[in-house]
Amino acid sequence: MKDDQSALVLHSGGQDSTTCLFWALKHFKEVRTLCITYGQRHSWEVEVARKIAIQAGVPFRILDATVISQLARNSLTHHDMIMDQEKPEHSYPNTFVAGRNLFFLTFAAVIARSYGIRNLVTGVSQADYSGYPDCRDTFIRSANVTLNLAMDEQFIIHTPLMWLSKAETWALADELGVFDVVKNETLTCYNGIIAEGCGQCPACKLRKAGLDEYEKSKINTTR
Ligand code: ZN
Repeated sequence: MKDDQSALVLHSGGQDSTTCLFWALKHFKEVRTLCITYGQRHSWEVEVARKIAIQAGVPFRILDATVISQLARNSLTHHDMIMDQEKPEHSYPNTFVAGRNLFFLTFAAVIARSYGIRNLVTGVSQADYSGYPDCRDTFIRSANVTLNLAMDEQFIIHTPLMWLSKAETWALADELGVFDVVKNETLTCYNGIIAEGCGQCPACKLRKAGLDEYEKSKINTTR
């Protein structure tokens, strides 16, 4: 496993991971996607991810990790849950799935290893929405070290969005030439509505605020 030309992208079909997929295609010769399901609200979002991967011409793999949904009492994986709109003062929003990114990275690393891939790409970001502890840079660095020790390998976890705001993530998609793909074909909404989404859930609000900010900055710079 010493291949620097290939990467495995954790891909959910959302704005961030889709932007990361195209970022990876720019930086690596061979790219694969891994879509992990864990009993999310809308299993057809897997189909969104599959379609984007096919369009991008990369192999698509699904991993069923529903065990994650059996662990927690209160998380996104429970379909009747009412979502927090904001981060509660002394805890995490109930959209937080405890341990998710640790599981995801571990699964991704094991799968990547089986393909001889050492580059892992994930769309986590701590800049705009720091509600989740496992989206922070310190966690990713720590997980990277742990995975390398666990498997005696030299994985490199790439987080192209780590320090980008949502507006900057839109700018990156534009720079990569996939602004329209990201805008029209990705699914970020917690209510399972593609593209612009429901407009009401926290993910839609964040996505729209970023898009508005980016489009406004574009107008200002082209003037
Ligand atoms: Zn929504």
